[in-house]
Amino acid sequence: MRLFYGCDDGGTPDMSDGTGLAEALLGLDGFRVLEVTEMPAELVIEIETTADFVGCSTCGQRAESQDRIEVEVRDLACFGRAARLRWRKRRWRCRDEGCPARTWTEGSPHFSSRNLLTVRAGKEACYQVGHNARPVAGLAKELGVCWWTVMDAVKEHGTSLVEDPSRVGKVAHLGVDETSYLKATSEHATLYATGLVDLRAKLIIDLVEGNAAADLRKWLAQRDERWLKGVKVVATDLAESFRAGLSPHLTHAKKVADPFHVVRVGNRCVDKVRRRVQNETLGHRGRKDDPLYRIRKLLLTGTERLNEKGRDRMLLGLRAGDPDDEVLGAWLAKESVRDVYLTDDVAEAAVLLDKAIAGCLADEVEEIRSLGSTLRSWRKEILEHHRTGASNGPTEGFNLLIKKVKRCGHGFRTFENYRLRVLLHAGGVTWPERPAVPRLRTRSPHSNA
Ligand SMILES: [Zn+2]
Repeated sequence: MRLFYGCDDGGTPDMSDGTGLAEALLGLDGFRVLEVTEMPAELVIEIETTADFVGCSTCGQRAESQDRIEVEVRDLACFGRAARLRWRKRRWRCRDEGCPARTWTEGSPHFSSRNLLTVRAGKEACYQVGHNARPVAGLAKELGVCWWTVMDAVKEHGTSLVEDPSRVGKVAHLGVDETSYLKATSEHATLYATGLVDLRAKLIIDLVEGNAAADLRKWLAQRDERWLKGVKVVATDLAESFRAGLSPHLTHAKKVADPFHVVRVGNRCVDKVRRRVQNETLGHRGRKDDPLYRIRKLLLTGTERLNEKGRDRMLLGLRAGDPDDEVLGAWLAKESVRDVYLTDDVAEAAVLLDKAIAGCLADEVEEIRSLGSTLRSWRKEILEHHRTGASNGPTEGFNLLIKKVKRCGHGFRTFENYRLRVLLHAGGVTWPERPAVPRLRTRSPHSNA
């Protein structure tokens, strides 16, 4: 159904004949609306520029219109209906036959030359995918374009926001953490990335492909000296590669083993022992009715968060599935690691940690002894937490944010896209101001009469 048919005589738009009204609704300056047609699934809006006279960009002579080409572009939805702009783009020709310009096609800042979305639709797509971590596929479906069109818009509008030098300022407390970004397939092992976090500002500074010492070192080598000097504390997980990668650029900074990761090392020990005992006693991996498998989550819950019922269930599971008290031993070792964080006092923490280390090293169970040597090798860094107060909160938050982006990503085709989306979501990007929407109020007072 044709909703609107504008005057095509180049006359002045006027609200009374509907021309000005259609243009006001369209809201793209420099364009007039020729026709609006309602199709079953979308509105098709035919537009042209209002530039009836243009000069040649090379010689300045008045150009003449040669012909038109039609370009179709997707715009933001209009009153809940998908909108397709059909731009009757003019091709101009220089009248001077000797001029090297010859012919050219008009352009507009509202349209990207590379993308099938209007600039405003592309910016909105970038905001939805970046700021709100919405899936690219969902937006592509909503806008009626393909996945790549949306991803290209995210790149086109998001890259400058992420690369903005003012995004990351001075960082005093730096967090380094690894995250997997692609699960293993038949072609490759799990791929890892290293996240760099400003622990105080709680934002992700950057994401580097790989988790080797060299990957971290290379990133640090690209920072300027003043920035590196400003880093006073670095919190990492208990990975030798990170400890090595911090040298030489951050040798001056205090190194802290992140409490969240220290506790995780204890949790992993419990899991390892549980799996092995399960296998040895039952001859298979954990199944849902196996006593140890049923308490796997309770085993990792901090003892202060277990209620009486939970504790009883856990003890029962251990009695049924842990004949040699090996899992119990690992659980006690894990709890002794958590105890280190019961106090804020360095001296007290040192006593608790040394007790935990000695207990682990003396254990008969190999996994627990290995936990002991990890703790021993990170003793200084673990206690540095109590000295500096570097908190694990942001790093845990970092993992959550990354998970959110990953969950909506359904696997990333390239690391660059992954980095861009993580940084748009959690990198403290300054988004261009969005027009504020004036509030609509309900009529008051409310009346139930
Ligand atoms: Zn010319």
